[in-house]
Amino acid sequence: MQVLPGIPVSSGIVIGRVFVLDHDPHRVARWTVPEAAVPREVERLDKAIAESLQDLEKVYAGAEHELGIEAAKIFLFHRGMLSDKKLIGPMREMIRDEHVNAEHAVVVAFDSLAQMFRKQRDSAFRTKTDDIRDLASRVLDHLMGSGPARLAQLEHPAVIVATDLTPSQTAGFDRKKVVGFVTDSGGRTSHTAIVANALGLPAVVGCRNITAAAQSGQTVIIDGDRGLVLLDPEEDDLRRYRGFIEQRRTYQLSLSEVAGLPSITRDGVHVRIVGNVEFPEECTTVVDQGGEGVGLYRSEFLYLAGETEPTEEEHFAAYARCIELLAGRPLTIRTVDLGADKYTQARSMTPERNPALGLRSIRYSLAEKAMFRKQLRAILRASALGPVKIMFPMITTIGELRHAKLILRDVMEDLGDEGIGFDRQMPVGVMIEVPSAALIADTLAQEVQFFSIGTNDLVQYTLAVDRTNERIAGLYQPAHPAVIQLIRGVAKAAAKAEIEVSCCGEAAGELDYALLLMGLGLRTLSVPGNAIPHLKRLVRSVEISQCERIARKVRSFDSEVQAATYLRDQARKLVPEAFDGRAVEARD
Ligand code: PEP
Ligand code: MG
Repeated sequence: MQVLPGIPVSSGIVIGRVFVLDHDPHRVARWTVPEAAVPREVERLDKAIAESLQDLEKVYAGAEHELGIEAAKIFLFHRGMLSDKKLIGPMREMIRDEHVNAEHAVVVAFDSLAQMFRKQRDSAFRTKTDDIRDLASRVLDHLMGSGPARLAQLEHPAVIVATDLTPSQTAGFDRKKVVGFVTDSGGRTSHTAIVANALGLPAVVGCRNITAAAQSGQTVIIDGDRGLVLLDPEEDDLRRYRGFIEQRRTYQLSLSEVAGLPSITRDGVHVRIVGNVEFPEECTTVVDQGGEGVGLYRSEFLYLAGETEPTEEEHFAAYARCIELLAGRPLTIRTVDLGADKYTQARSMTPERNPALGLRSIRYSLAEKAMFRKQLRAILRASALGPVKIMFPMITTIGELRHAKLILRDVMEDLGDEGIGFDRQMPVGVMIEVPSAALIADTLAQEVQFFSIGTNDLVQYTLAVDRTNERIAGLYQPAHPAVIQLIRGVAKAAAKAEIEVSCCGEAAGELDYALLLMGLGLRTLSVPGNAIPHLKRLVRSVEISQCERIARKVRSFDSEVQAATYLRDQARKLVPEAFDGRAVEARD
């Protein structure tokens, strides 16, 4: 048995069989092809290459159309390599001379090409090895069937093992076939992790070398609470983990009693708990778990699921569905937050050099006005059906907010002219996700009706720690004094301007951090649906004065480690039942 530690991102335990999604060239088998089958093997190779060239043709045309000829040139380079006789010739010869399978010949030929590039003095050549790996995996996909295609044929439920997964790949998993996943890379608040949570799929990311260690078909246990992966577990471990699964079930049942109770502290303060959703159907979970509405609808997921940009009607239908499921509870729609680790199909072809600091979120919407206006029309139309709020992501300057509001007003006028109904008083808010926004919160507060603090990004940008990078996951600390100081400033600015302030980052759903947020004055927390009852139990167990005392104490610490340890101890003291038995281990 092998135990691999990783980062727990979506709770729950599953026992299943491994399905390795990627083609790791080092793990492609070599076998001997009988003499008579050699011509057919060469044909398989030629067909895979021809199909890969066709793909590249399409990708090139798309990139040229979207981004211009310069950016598309990378695919010309891929096409050129794949048409080069010096690369293809040796593959064919190898199959003919050594009677090996086409897959093996592809791996060997691309490997020696990569080595040649690696040896070049010019660094521009050396960096081409990534392109070569991409190209090899494209040809292998055609020979062996791509990961998703093989997955579709799978007959038993599987635990996906992959180097990395995009949020859209994760969202596209067939829930009947996929029961959990483990990846080499990723961080606690990466969007793939957020999707796993939304789907209730136990997941461990940042496992570093799981793809090297695991074999398809192996038995595996994923412990999504503690961040452990057990490959080929012993009978004893299987028995122990089946016991844990049973304990979790009982604990969840005890939580369901809390769902229907009000979210009020022992000293009578109402702390609104609302949900974060990526897909409209999740609104059902939010309501069932006792949420008072949706504090964050990540509308960009409409773009990630399909091949094409959603139409106004598709936007409208999604919002209308949320409103219907929420039955009178407010829906906060965040305008699209594309970029960083969330790309549309077309944009994923031309990654930016530094995407977290690139054309993302509101910057992208302001650059793509037609797309933005389409979404605003749909949001406004939906506002006629039920209580809707709108918020803009990643505002960094007052100018961006004013620009976005100007377009919103313009779209309102259009709708007015067309006689289409909408809520003229629809509240407008901004997300506070970067230090610059937190530091100008006083100014922003004059022009919006609410703030929502996005700690996932605020932590990333304050501490300069990529939220998706497992190598620096230890530095990703929401309890860092700098982050706490920024949140406090935002809460004070909101109180002064008498506007609402909430937190919708993943940290709001952590019991210990929620204590701090309440102590800093926040009265709305927006969390993943399945975290709602945990949080409500906490709210019902404390007095606000206790939270304030805790926040004061935390602010006196100079280190994030001290702050985090203290918060965890306090949460344990206040709600020991949440940390009983297995749950204690879960948070260690
Ligand atoms: C955040 O940054 O905290 C947030 C809620 O937005 P997202 O996780 O979608 O970036
Ligand atoms: Mg964010």
